[in-house]
Amino acid sequence: MSKNVIVVGAGASGLMAAIKAAEYGGRVTILEQNGLPGRKLLVTGNGRCNLTNTNQSRECYHCSNSFFPLPAIAAFGQQETVQFFSKLGIYTVNRGGYLYPHSGQASQVLGVLTMEAKARGVKIRCNTGVKAVTRMNPGQHKVLPEGGYAVRVEGYTYYCDALILANGSPASSVEGACDSGYALAKSLGHTIIRPEPALVPLVTREKYPWHGVRTEGKVTLYVENTSVAESEGELQLTSYGISGIPVFQVSREAARALGDGQSVTACLDFFPDFDPESFERLMDARQTNCPYKSERELFVGIFPDKLIDVLMTQKNPRKAAKNLRLTVTGTGGFEKAQVCSGGVLTDEVDPFTMQSWKSRNLFFSGEILDVDGICGGYNLQWAWSSGAIAGRHAAEG
Ligand SMILES: Cc1cc2nc3c(=O)[nH]c(=O)nc-3n(C[C@H](O)[C@H](O)[C@H](O)COP(=O)(O)OP(=O)(O)OC[C@H]3O[C@@H](n4cnc5c(N)ncnc54)[C@H](O)[C@@H]3O)c2cc1C
Repeated sequence: MSKNVIVVGAGASGLMAAIKAAEYGGRVTILEQNGLPGRKLLVTGNGRCNLTNTNQSRECYHCSNSFFPLPAIAAFGQQETVQFFSKLGIYTVNRGGYLYPHSGQASQVLGVLTMEAKARGVKIRCNTGVKAVTRMNPGQHKVLPEGGYAVRVEGYTYYCDALILANGSPASSVEGACDSGYALAKSLGHTIIRPEPALVPLVTREKYPWHGVRTEGKVTLYVENTSVAESEGELQLTSYGISGIPVFQVSREAARALGDGQSVTACLDFFPDFDPESFERLMDARQTNCPYKSERELFVGIFPDKLIDVLMTQKNPRKAAKNLRLTVTGTGGFEKAQVCSGGVLTDEVDPFTMQSWKSRNLFFSGEILDVDGICGGYNLQWAWSSGAIAGRHAAEG
């Protein structure tokens, strides 16, 4: 008998889970609270959808159990993802390891997923928010003798053999981003690791008039004066603090430490290719070449004007260029975050099937779990990998 599978959430991982569950013989219904599926998918990669990355290593995925993401990534990884999407019609283009659809349109990634789901007989019920889920005891429901789940929506109850929670997280201001999945998981006995914003700008105590500056640099993050993370790339300097990909990469540690009441400092190095001594020598050589230049004028040609103005307000501008210390007081919050760290505790989930250890025939996929990737296509890869595994095992049982 084919299994009746319900997926909560028609995001990236829910759509993948539904397609795979149908491929493995399930009769699948997705319940989605929004009027349309895949709202968050549409905004990924600035609307271009960085759907995976050719460089995969365990450091690209964060989880309180660092082993947990590996089996799913091994079973359905970057290559399987590219093959899967290629079969659906998405020709991918490689930009330095970052893979995008050739069309540059996230909407087409969503389009092929919904087409495939429908072609496989998946029913997508929109405007159908799930309010509660209950585990049925064996024999409690005449059509589901093995037990299963009752899924409560406004004015109606669905029943299923297997349930996949793919509710996502509260990150972003995209419609549908919410924490309702955590409540559903908790009601079935699961533990939630406190969700915190990740891949998010940082707010600093120091406010400098450098808004709009984009410059290469390195950020090193200190928690209680111990270095915990660093990243290099294009920094964006803003009226409230700092942003850009390197800041996103270290932001999860900042958010969690701030949430724990710890002190957080970000040190910016605006010339990371040179160590401090070489930088001093470079500046001295520039002074020798042009003895008529002021200290400020020596920076011209290296740093943007607005940054030079800020450096010149520091006691030792040269030192500040290599190590400008900023006190981090907050983050942009869930609204400005691309993902969440934290979520369903992975010790309570089988990493090979995504099935709950607490409640049989309950599965999880995507960001609802305590797994978050670094910037660069890894969060969608996690959605595809965990969705594919959960869908298959939910249908197979
Ligand atoms: C601006 C932005 C850009 C990003 N760019 C990239 C990128 O380029 N590459 C990358 O790898 N990652 C990117 N991400 C991250 C990526 O989008 C997410 O990690 C991914 O979408 C998570 O997929 P998901 O299926 O777990 O959750 P979601 O895509 O959030 O889907 C969850 C779905 O569940 C629904 N739902 C929630 N609760 C209920 C309920 N109770 N009942 C019914 N439905 C419910 C929601 O409405 C939603 O549709 C980006 C994120 C943002 C915000």
